Amino acid sequence: MEVADAFKDLLTGFPTLEPGHVWLVGAGPGDPGLLTLHAFAAIRQADIIIHDSLIDDRILALAGGGARLENAGKRGGQPSAAQADISRRLVELARQGRRVLRLKGGDPFIFGRGGDEVMALATAGIPFRVVSGVTAGLAGLVSASIPTTLRGVNQAVILATGHGADQPGGLDWAALARTGQPLVLYMAMQNLDLIAEALIAGGLKPETPAAVIMSATTEDERILVANIRDIAAEARRQSVGAPAIVAVGAIVAARGQLLEIAARASALLVE
Ligand code: SAH
Repeated sequence: MEVADAFKDLLTGFPTLEPGHVWLVGAGPGDPGLLTLHAFAAIRQADIIIHDSLIDDRILALAGGGARLENAGKRGGQPSAAQADISRRLVELARQGRRVLRLKGGDPFIFGRGGDEVMALATAGIPFRVVSGVTAGLAGLVSASIPTTLRGVNQAVILATGHGADQPGGLDWAALARTGQPLVLYMAMQNLDLIAEALIAGGLKPETPAAVIMSATTEDERILVANIRDIAAEARRQSVGAPAIVAVGAIVAARGQLLEIAARASALLVE
């Protein structure tokens, strides 16, 4: 059977995006191959797609001919639309009877204000559906050959945001350090010096390995590995910045081992 036919079969019986409904859909971390079939089916059905700035053009190109694309990151020439404006826009479009797709990077419920958006929809009485996506934190580690959990090394993994780390009342980094479990940080580049300092002050060994995975799963991907003490300075020196995932902990060391073994038996890790 042709691949296209197989997909057609697979896609029959998928839910229908009805007029007046809003679907909040994760587009994955970047690589179109990491888009889910549900996301694909949603993109094909929408007549308006309100999307984040970082969505790959090849994903947006899947939209139907008559569909309108609106970049929520840059609406009305503004550098960034306020969250309340985006939520209001979704409600407004649904009330006009459109089939509305809110396409978000990664997973809609991980650090992307998707929670706020569904609250606003529910409050306004708009029927909605949420479709999960592959989150950048998990895909980023895979892309960097870092096992997110490793038997004998960690029993948990902490997904955290670095946003607000410079504000009072932010995360208790010392408490996170004390768990001994690896951290996977989103939006952490701006405050990385501060975060590293706070983790070390909280008892994390300065030699703990860390990695920055920039633009994970895209052709601009860059991976930097250094210890937690040096990672922020090294990222600056090598101009490795947002959007990036920062991984901290012993799991990062497994990357080196894995790549070393793979290099000895060349071509084991197929890119
Ligand atoms: N909902 C998204 C996260 C939104 S917050 C998800 O589940 O992935 C935005 C942050 O996600 C960025 O600051 C960055 O830390 C991370 N991010 C998103 N895409 C990324 C990518 N391709 N590579 C590395 N980090 C990414």
